[in-house]
Parts: sequence; structure tokens; C-alpha cells
Amino acid sequence: MTLHVDLPLDDIDTDAPIYDAQAFRLTQKEAELSGLARSLGKAKFADRAERYDREAIFPTENYEDMHKAGLLGVCVPEEHGGYGADYRAYMITAAEIGRYCGATALTWNMHVCSCLWTGPLSDDLDLSDADRRSHLERRAAHYDRIVNHGKIYAQPFSEGGAAAAGVVPFSTSAAKVDGGWKISGKKIFASLSGSADYYGILCGEIQPGQAPSRRDTMYVAVPADAEGLKIVGDWDPLGMRGTVSRTLLFENVFVPEDEALMPRGVYYQAAMRWPHMFMTLSPTYLGIAQAAYDFTVKYLRGEWPGLPPVKRRMYPTKQIGVAQMRLMLEQTKALWFQAISEARPDPSKEQVLRAYAAQYTVMENANEICQLAVRTCGGQSMLKSLPLERLYRDSRCGSLMLPWTAEICMDRIGRGALYEPGETDE
Ligand SMILES: Cc1cc2nc3c(=O)[nH]c(=O)nc-3n(C[C@H](O)[C@H](O)[C@H](O)COP(=O)(O)OP(=O)(O)OC[C@H]3O[C@@H](n4cnc5c(N)ncnc54)[C@H](O)[C@@H]3O)c2cc1C
Repeated sequence: MTLHVDLPLDDIDTDAPIYDAQAFRLTQKEAELSGLARSLGKAKFADRAERYDREAIFPTENYEDMHKAGLLGVCVPEEHGGYGADYRAYMITAAEIGRYCGATALTWNMHVCSCLWTGPLSDDLDLSDADRRSHLERRAAHYDRIVNHGKIYAQPFSEGGAAAAGVVPFSTSAAKVDGGWKISGKKIFASLSGSADYYGILCGEIQPGQAPSRRDTMYVAVPADAEGLKIVGDWDPLGMRGTVSRTLLFENVFVPEDEALMPRGVYYQAAMRWPHMFMTLSPTYLGIAQAAYDFTVKYLRGEWPGLPPVKRRMYPTKQIGVAQMRLMLEQTKALWFQAISEARPDPSKEQVLRAYAAQYTVMENANEICQLAVRTCGGQSMLKSLPLERLYRDSRCGSLMLPWTAEICMDRIGRGALYEPGETDE
């Protein structure tokens, strides 16, 4: 049987860029950084991913490679030795990492946010002259650690209550003392636990005589070797096993003032005015969706390395399965690209609703595409010797991640579509 193709098509390349630079009119920096991530992912991360998952260990070797390639400083401004990537450049680059190792991309997100939020995002916010001055001084020290010494920052916010959803103040507290703060509390799901050099936590600064308020949220880097900081609990989850997201306990941990990653009140301002900051978990899962599609194409063509060259592509049901995956992938990519292109301070309501829709779509479709991939490829494809079953398990985790879980996105889209700001039914 000969394959009949009506249109002149390029060769099938299962490692082609997720976003073709010309078709999506990427900037030169976006094209170069995402190309760098793709080549590193393909050459090094893809083969290592299986062991990190099986043993639930942190992808240390990948971080060493990312440091060498300058990717730990991807969002560090160029004048501090980084690549100076903006939000969109980071997002597109992270998707390419997620395609080859989900746990690396997800943990890299936690690290990169410490630079993105203190860098391009803070530059968009209103700070007093004094706060701006001290912020610029402090962030220079963080950037030096990252770019010149390969230091890694984690981002543990979750506490198990409603704080990580942005509904109530964080219960981890920062009591002001001479020269810094004393931190007490607990963070669950601390990705990079045991491997980060600094834990960039969100906590509530105690204002004597006042009730806790989300406005008093502080974003502070706690050194991993600080006295009173403990890592507890085990880590044996369904997916994203290489993130090693154990529990942190803080017992009166002293943190010097210079470890403030943002001045007082600035995190709250960012959360209010730069909502796309909460979409940065999504590229990991877009990458996973692309990887499941790529795997399916290779597998059905009988081209997966190490497997007998058995072709399964000639069955119409397989072609329909791949078509369904492709449709979902194209829809997901298009909406996501639009949403990340609109990221800015003070976006319109429509843009925020679109960001929720993009987040929901990536997180849910990644899992749906993976389950279609398993069904379409068949029984042998879900053996642990192949990446698909890992992609399937990893993809289930995206929708669970606060503050923009799939459920919260649905709630907000529904409410936002039906109510004007401040409108009630009274
Ligand atoms: C692999 C992995 C890595 C992670 N790494 C990190 C990390 O590095 N740092 C970090 O801070 N967190 C991390 N998390 C935690 C994550 O962001 C969530 O905090 C966690 O998954 C929430 O779990 P929970 O059971 O406590 O959720 P709960 O708070 O009990 O919520 C359960 C569900 O209820 C819904 N819900 C919650 N609040 C609301 C609301 N206000 N309105 C409507 N619905 C709501 C949500 O859909 C949510 O999924 C990680 C999670 C995973 C799975």
C-alpha cells in the first residue's frame, strides 16, 4: 500500500520546535533560547528522565548542564550576566525542557520564578525610590549566586490550607527582629527539597496589633543551611517524582533582611497586577503534551529506537487517534501562545479570563493527549521501558497545582463571564 499525501509536506521531525520561529514570529532571543533548551533536552535530559522518575530523585545532572549552558540565569537581566529572557521567552523555552523531562522543567520553573518575579516583573510595578534602590541591590546578590555560582532557588508556597490559592494570608509567619526576620511555619510540596540552596518562601509579616493580611506577604529566600529549617516526610507520588517535593518545617529560622526577594507589599501588588505570573507551571505540561504526540508518531511509524520496526500507522483507527491528538495539541498551543503573548501588568478582564482558559486547557489536555496516546499506541507502549507511561502519570499533576488549579480556573471563568467586577445579586 502506498501512502497518498495531497499536500507537499515537510519531512516528519518529531523533535521540531514546538513553536516554529518563523510561523509564530518568535524574537531572535526566543528562537535561540528555545533551540538551546531543545538541543540540551534531546541530547541529555530525555535519556536521564527514566531514572529520576523511577528512583524519585532530583535531576542534579540536568541542573549542572543547565548551569553550564547559562540556563539557570535565563531570566536574569543581561547586565548581571544572564540571558535577560522576558516572560514569553521563558515560557516557550520551558516548554521545550518539559518535552524531554517534566520534573526538570517543573523544578526549573520554581527556580526561574525567583528571577522572573524579581526581574522583568518587578520592573513593571510601582516601587518607591527607596524600595527600588534596595531591591536592585538585593537582587544583584541573588543573581550573582545563580549566574556565577550555580545556586538553585526553590519556591515553596503551599501550606495545605487556602493560602496558596490566594484566598487567605499565609500562616507561615515572619516576625521582624533586629537585622532580619524570624520565620516559623510549614510548607508542603516543596519541590527541590534537599537540592535547593535557597527556599524562596511566601510568608506573612506579623504586624503587631493587626490581623494577618495578604498585603503583608513577604517573599524571602531562606538559605538551605539555616538553623531551624528541617526537611521531613517521604516522597513517593504518582507523577513528577523527580521534583522531590517534601515538607519544610521552619522553627524560628533567622533570615537576614538582605534575603528579601521583594520589598514589603510588592508580592501582593504583583499578584494583583501581573496575574499571568501564575501561569508559569503550564509550559512543563505543554511540553509533556508535545512529547506524547511525538512519541505516538514515532511509535506508530515503527521508528522508536530499540524496538522492532513494526509499523502500526496504516490502521484508520490509529490515524483517527493521532488526528484527535493533533487537533487537541494545535488548539492548546494556539490558545496558550495567545495568552502568554498578552502577559503584561494590568491586563484586561478578557485577557485574564483567556489566561485561565489557557491554563485549564494545557493542564487538562496534556493528560487527555497522554491517555489518547496510550490507547492509540496500545499495550506495549505503556511498559516502563518507554517514556509514555511516565508522561501519562506526570501529566495528571498539572491540574492539581495551585494557585490556578483546573477547578479554580473553571470557577473564575464562570464567575467572571457572568459578573462585572463588584457586581452582586443583592
Ligand atoms: C508534583 C508537584 C509539585 C509541587 N511543587 C510545589 C512547589 O514547589 N511549591 C509549592 O508551593 N507547591 C507545590 N505543589 C503544590 C501544589 O501547588 C498545590 O498546593 C497542591 O497540589 C495542593 O494540594 P492540596 O491537596 O493541599 O489541595 P487543597 O488546597 O486541599 O485543594 C484541593 C483542590 O480543591 C480545589 N480548591 C482549593 N482551593 C480552592 C478555592 N479557593 N476555590 C475553588 N477550589 C479550590 C482545587 O482544585 C484543589 O486542587 C506541588 C504539587 C505537585 C503535585
